[in-house]
Amino acid sequence: ASGSRADAIIAPDFKFEDMGIGGLDVEFTAIFRRAFASRILSPELIDKMGLKHVKGLLLYGPPGTGKTLIARRIGAMLNVKEPKIVNGPEILSKYVGSSEENVRNLFVDAEAEYKSKGESSSLHIIIFDELDSVFKQRGSRGDGTGVGDNVVNQLLSKMDGVDQLNNILIIGMTNRLDLIDNALLRPGRFEVQLEISLPDEKGRVEIFKIQTKKMADNGMLAKDVDFHELAAMTKNFTGAEIEGLVKSASSFAINKHLKVGSMAALNDDVKNLKLTRKDFLGALSEVKAAFGVSDQDLN
Ligand code: ATP
Repeated sequence: ASGSRADAIIAPDFKFEDMGIGGLDVEFTAIFRRAFASRILSPELIDKMGLKHVKGLLLYGPPGTGKTLIARRIGAMLNVKEPKIVNGPEILSKYVGSSEENVRNLFVDAEAEYKSKGESSSLHIIIFDELDSVFKQRGSRGDGTGVGDNVVNQLLSKMDGVDQLNNILIIGMTNRLDLIDNALLRPGRFEVQLEISLPDEKGRVEIFKIQTKKMADNGMLAKDVDFHELAAMTKNFTGAEIEGLVKSASSFAINKHLKVGSMAALNDDVKNLKLTRKDFLGALSEVKAAFGVSDQDLN
């Protein structure tokens, strides 16, 4: 209904299809239900229920599967103008000596707003990439500096804080859930954990479409390009690898035009540039060679 809390929380023009995320609709729905459902309640109802929102969401899975992408889109969906984005190694190295202070600073704006507006405060998101580099299980960190421990303690004390901040969501990301200290996964901390895994065939078709959307809009995809065929040939590819494949296919397509001779002719000729099935197969064969995979199935 218009004027409800849901309208304030979720960007009014939000549509999953527009997010540029391929194949993660199930994950996205799960994130919504498990981590955000309570945020569409009115402050009065939250108060009545004595509810504490989920403060920490942990996305884990192989590199390049769209964890950062989904974290940023969650921010856009929830109308958060500028999520704060940090990563573990940066906190530990760039700010040696002031690591704890930097963790504290991440929370300053949200704390100030919560103090003045309480439950009506807007939502603040902190995206914390490569969480495992800071939150390795005790005893396995072994950097000998103690900086890591201080950062861990600082973040935990912020998350557990006495004045339970209801206006903060921390989205942590890691490729290695197994390395994360269990203490971090408790209720009130990164209590919702969700795996972002490799895309299935349908997801890969969607990712191909997303990564070639501009070319398609500009008539630069030849008719013989079939993303269903390519998706079937790219089992175990991540979204990032499909993005790389598209880039490589583009370079094959451009290369055809390089044979023209002069740069002026090239630029003129490039107006007719189209990526063909052959460009994609050439790219695939190159990528698979780099992976050490036989390309006999590419004919
Ligand atoms: P890492 O663990 O290395 O940080 P990640 O899971 O956060 O990896 P992203 O940085 O989100 O991966 O992905 C890299 C790029 O790959 C994205 O910017 C996007 O272009 C593309 N990509 C990955 N997954 C998808 C997807 N599901 N849909 C569309 N594009 C994707």
